[in-house]
Amino acid sequence: MLNDDQLLRYSRQLLLPEFDIAGQEALAAARVLMIGAGGLGCPAGLYLAGAGIGELVIVDADTVESSNLHRQIAYREADVGQPKATALAATLQRLNNEVRIVPHQLRADEQWLATRVRDFTLVLDCCDNFATRQAINAACHAAGVPVVSGAAIRLQAQLVTFDFRRDDSPCYHCLYGDGDGPDTLCSESGILGPVVGTVGTMQALLAIRLLTGHAVDGTLHLFDAATLQWRQMALRKDPACPLCGATD
Ligand SMILES: [Zn+2]
Repeated sequence: MLNDDQLLRYSRQLLLPEFDIAGQEALAAARVLMIGAGGLGCPAGLYLAGAGIGELVIVDADTVESSNLHRQIAYREADVGQPKATALAATLQRLNNEVRIVPHQLRADEQWLATRVRDFTLVLDCCDNFATRQAINAACHAAGVPVVSGAAIRLQAQLVTFDFRRDDSPCYHCLYGDGDGPDTLCSESGILGPVVGTVGTMQALLAIRLLTGHAVDGTLHLFDAATLQWRQMALRKDPACPLCGATD
């Protein structure tokens, strides 16, 4: 039940017929795990906290560096040297005191994810490396928890949702297999702030859509920041996938 303050606060999204009171209550009941508090996690976290998500758990092992400030928009110069998880949590708590925000300064490894992911309604993959993406994928698939995954490097970005509540959902391994070589890192290859910001914002959008009962399919969305073009690729489950193909 929304009180008068909440009806006013969330009025602009409540006006949308496809959102309405039921959407707000669904968001308030949602528990979201966000892995990564960098260029993707900052905008995603800001929009989800602003929208009135029930609980947001933020996991990131790193501290804020000055080279992060051009794209990791929740941080200020005074945050340099502070853990990202707690700095982002503090900012989001100032934005919306009603959200339960829990920061963890740690690297989400396979074991941590395997024990924790089942507690959540949705996982946001905002990390920056292939090994963690694979671990998130495996844990979410095993627990039947949907994951919205974003990535960006140079002028290219991508976005995909795997809804593991559905048996026919493809997975990250169907798409990329075991990978092909070392990670491409922003620290080596470069990134423009608005490129990663675009994808983090879209992750928040997909999260809100999914959490409010709208179907989000496993389409791979590819963004080219040089031309502003989005391309879509329909993904299908790989029957030979060692992760999701054998058991279903
Ligand atoms: Zn798969």
